[in-house]
Amino acid sequence: MGKSPQMHSTSSSLPSRCGICGATSYHRVVARDGGGVMRYTERLQCTGCSHEFADVKAWREGACAEPRANAQSA
Ligand SMILES: [Zn+2]
Repeated sequence: MGKSPQMHSTSSSLPSRCGICGATSYHRVVARDGGGVMRYTERLQCTGCSHEFADVKAWREGACAEPRANAQSA
């Protein structure tokens, strides 16, 4: 009897962008392990503001783990 209205939600794809600068891309942070080998870590670095994030969720929320340590040592 009762036909329920079909409300198709369009929330399938949330916008993926930095919560700080709005950039739409990031890249995985690479760091050296104990053996001096460059490896991908689980951290992300925004291509826009260069902040590091623990994961994609933090990136979207703009919850940066720490500002980019730009060491000026040659
Ligand atoms: Zn950013």
